[in-house]
Amino acid sequence: MSCAFWAKKLNPERHVGLLELNQIGYGASTKNAGFLTKGSLSYYHHLEASYGEKIAHNFFSFGHDSIQLAHDFILKDSSLEFTPTSSLTLSTHVLQHNPFFHEVDHLYSDKFSRRAHLSPGEVKINPQTFIHHLKTMCEKMGVVIHENVVVDKKNCDGLQSQIIFCLNAYTGSFLENFQTKISPYRGQMLEMQIQDGHSFDHLFYYPEERVYWRFYQDKIWIGGKRLVDEERETTMDMGINSVIQLELEDFVRTKLNLRATVTRQWSGIMGFTKNERPICQRLEQENQYLLAGFSGHGMGYGFKSAKELVEHLDDKQKEPFFFNPLRDKIES
Ligand SMILES: Cc1cc2nc3c(=O)[nH]c(=O)nc-3n(C[C@H](O)[C@H](O)[C@H](O)COP(=O)(O)OP(=O)(O)OC[C@H]3O[C@@H](n4cnc5c(N)ncnc54)[C@H](O)[C@@H]3O)c2cc1C
Repeated sequence: MSCAFWAKKLNPERHVGLLELNQIGYGASTKNAGFLTKGSLSYYHHLEASYGEKIAHNFFSFGHDSIQLAHDFILKDSSLEFTPTSSLTLSTHVLQHNPFFHEVDHLYSDKFSRRAHLSPGEVKINPQTFIHHLKTMCEKMGVVIHENVVVDKKNCDGLQSQIIFCLNAYTGSFLENFQTKISPYRGQMLEMQIQDGHSFDHLFYYPEERVYWRFYQDKIWIGGKRLVDEERETTMDMGINSVIQLELEDFVRTKLNLRATVTRQWSGIMGFTKNERPICQRLEQENQYLLAGFSGHGMGYGFKSAKELVEHLDDKQKEPFFFNPLRDKIES
């Protein structure tokens, strides 16, 4: 959807079509917790340990710019439900400081260490209204959207048009070469109604148990704990995993000290690459590109990634941040 948006926005004369196998919003983009985020402190510790501070900082800046773009182009002029906020990474022990994050005191619960790590400039959205709004914007600009369309790769190979495949977890079932590069991982989400009206604006991460949560009206949305039942969560089937759901429920009651009742459960399928960085590259056919494998970061990184790829189609000198050459530079 973001690629279609930028393809039309950057060149209104261009004919842009979006072909969707199901309904727009069927994928992870409406199933997530609505964090427009750069990611948790532990994610940046991992990036820094793997690639050094400069590259980690580049990722952080890229995420920041991408969220700002989404704010300026999608959120600014609309009545969408969104809240500018910060994310807080919590821990039970003192975490190593990171220059991109601010260390702050928080009054959350006695179950976590008092010092948390704050990342400002993030946004809390309702992913369903967000995607619906983006779809409407695309249609108004003249993007032609076809839903319930079965796309055949062989037919694509005969076309002259520029094609970007954005199939996320479904990439491997469409492009065989990517079966081992992008793995479908399911993520469970739980919504609970809070009885005592307790609420914070932040986006929360608790990396020790791979849990994240935020408040939505008088409810909490909480997700994660995939590794509790990793085998069953390595699937393309959207379904409820009761073991994980019970763990999330227990977390809300015992760790967050909330009296709450379950109102909704859902899941979505993420497309994970081995290093959790998206794949942005040209395919064998010169006019075909892939932008997929955003792992747990597509809402934060996706909008700018799409813009940069579309700019590259128009000017091959412009190299997207996640393009192969950069990946090679990082790996070497
Ligand atoms: C539970 C959960 C929590 C998450 N939390 C966060 C978060 O906090 N922050 C963050 O940044 N990201 C998060 N993510 C990840 C984020 O949602 C994804 O990275 C992002 O939505 C991926 O967007 P996409 O457009 O690439 O893929 P999707 O939104 O998955 O869209 C892919 C689309 O391709 C369609 N499709 C499949 N096959 C075909 C075909 N053959 N032809 C045409 N269309 C096809 C599908 O129907 C689908 O609609 C989370 C994801 C989940 C599931």
